[in-house]
Amino acid sequence: MDPVQEIDELKARRICEGCVEEHYLRTEIRRDGRDDRCSYCDRRGKTYSMNKMAERIEEAFSDHYLRTEEPDFWDGERAGERAGDPVIWAIAGAAHISEQAAEDVQLILEDKHDDFESAQMGDETEFSRGPTMKRPAQRAEACLD
Ligand SMILES: [Zn+2]
Repeated sequence: MDPVQEIDELKARRICEGCVEEHYLRTEIRRDGRDDRCSYCDRRGKTYSMNKMAERIEEAFSDHYLRTEEPDFWDGERAGERAGDPVIWAIAGAAHISEQAAEDVQLILEDKHDDFESAQMGDETEFSRGPTMKRPAQRAEACLD
């Protein structure tokens, strides 16, 4: 499949409140979500598109994770101790969503950041997979320039 089409397909997926265990996000989906069928559990209910979900997770990472608990969370050296891919694990852990949904979010964010960052910097963004993931703080500082 064309990778662009594939990302568009991922963005159009729906995720329901039942598949998001993080309290704040779940409450938000219940309040603002649209009635639809969930792409992950196949039940009908209030849902967000994965595009919206990816945006919310990106915001959470830039606003929240910079200065809260678990400073080791983003430490690439520790990534090997975790099961699975560290970025996907971080996304799944932040939103309390399944690894499958987290992988979709990761792909959407990686694609988005590839568009406007990698072109300039010529390397990975913090949403790229792999152990050389950067801390989101570096991106925040870069944006202040
Ligand atoms: Zn669901």
